[in-house]
Amino acid sequence: MEYALDPGALALLGDLERAGYRAYLVGGCVRDLLRGERPHDWDICTSARPEEVLALFSGETVVPTGLRHGTVTVRLEHRPYEVTTFRVDGTYSDGRRPDAVRFTADLKEDLARRDFTINAMAMDAAGRLYDPFGGAEDLKRGLLRCVGDPSRRFQEDGLRILRGLRFAAVLGFSLEPETARSLRQTRDGLRRVAAERIQAELSRLLPGPAAGAVLRAFPEVFWVFWPELEPMKGFHQHSPWHSWDVWEHTLRALEAAPPDLALRLAALLHDVGKPACFTRDRSGNGHFYGHPARSASTAEEMLRRLRFDHALQARVVLLVERHHLDLPPQETLLRRRLRQLGPEVVFQLLALQRADTRGQAPEIAAPRLLELDRAEALARSILAQRPCLTLKDLAVNGRDVLALGAAPGPAVGRVLQSLLEQVSEGALPNEREALLSAARVRVTSPSDSG
Ligand code: ATP
Ligand code: MG
Repeated sequence: MEYALDPGALALLGDLERAGYRAYLVGGCVRDLLRGERPHDWDICTSARPEEVLALFSGETVVPTGLRHGTVTVRLEHRPYEVTTFRVDGTYSDGRRPDAVRFTADLKEDLARRDFTINAMAMDAAGRLYDPFGGAEDLKRGLLRCVGDPSRRFQEDGLRILRGLRFAAVLGFSLEPETARSLRQTRDGLRRVAAERIQAELSRLLPGPAAGAVLRAFPEVFWVFWPELEPMKGFHQHSPWHSWDVWEHTLRALEAAPPDLALRLAALLHDVGKPACFTRDRSGNGHFYGHPARSASTAEEMLRRLRFDHALQARVVLLVERHHLDLPPQETLLRRRLRQLGPEVVFQLLALQRADTRGQAPEIAAPRLLELDRAEALARSILAQRPCLTLKDLAVNGRDVLALGAAPGPAVGRVLQSLLEQVSEGALPNEREALLSAARVRVTSPSDSG
């Protein structure tokens, strides 16, 4: 088999080999090549010691990224390549990182420290594969299997627990039974993993095509850092609108949501406040009054704990809080929503409502989905007319209002805001003369002077 190897990586392998060292592509890039995907970065492992790598590439930009762990970054044509000396990891006393590493001349020892068989393969510059743990076979069969004893490997480094689920979600692979059993059993090891690392893995896991299946199969792993999810499982809704419990509804909504992190998080968390808001009426029907606000405050706390960036937190909380917002295929109202929330949020809410609907009883979903399609088409046609949505789009500005004799200060903003509302709802054309005469009336009317 011929693989398209990156020219920069090939040049580095060639230089190392000519200097008498052994050198291979390793890890994610080999896995991606075998799957027929273009690798996003090219890691190299070598028998050369870090100081030898630094000396050999002293003509290039070299950064001693992690000398203690044997890693040197070489920049070629502005691309970074990580070159790491073959190594064996020492004992793990913190459940996350080896206390010390020992360099070795043996490629197989280096591959043995890696997490999963599909990540424990190396390839030389001629495209020859080194695969002592059966990674290629597991890749073909769609299996994630730990290198060595799974329970020991997960205990050494708790991050591998979530890496395993991330690869399962992204690649759609299953976990080999012993790997799956140990992963569940050692899940508490995640408590020793930094919030930022959990967040980074989760951010890649959730948009994955098999994210729903992974959450369905391993919910207890996610409860370690997000215990708020646990009450959803098995929570019966007692409602003709719902065929499933809160958790299964949530997973179906997540599976129906586009593979975008904010939307997947919003789908996962939109009903997290439901169990706390449950009541039943006299006829036995279940209700969850106030759950969007409750879900939003719980979601905010959960996202903050994992240190998601502020803009993403704010967006997800907004989507969760407004997930029931009325967005009918009705022009005046949609114009107002577009102005108040901005087009991006309106389209995300429509996508979230579509996902939420697909997680409900199928017989009520169909007409609701049609209505959401119509609302989205209408919102698009409104936007195609380049409507006036913000003060910047208005044909007059603050200086114009001041020139009419308005007192400097907040009154100017109020006049502009009122013009914007009238224009966006079609009551006024966005034309300078029309806006000036409307503004003149407001400026001279005493009720508006304060
Ligand atoms: P991707 O880059 O797509 O996330 P990757 O497998 O390349 O996937 P990296 O984090 O770039 O992941 O790690 C490179 C390689 O280092 C992995 O393929 C694996 O062999 C090894 N590795 C990374 N993290 C661990 C870990 N926590 N435990 C053991 N080996 C690891
Ligand atoms: Mg990588």
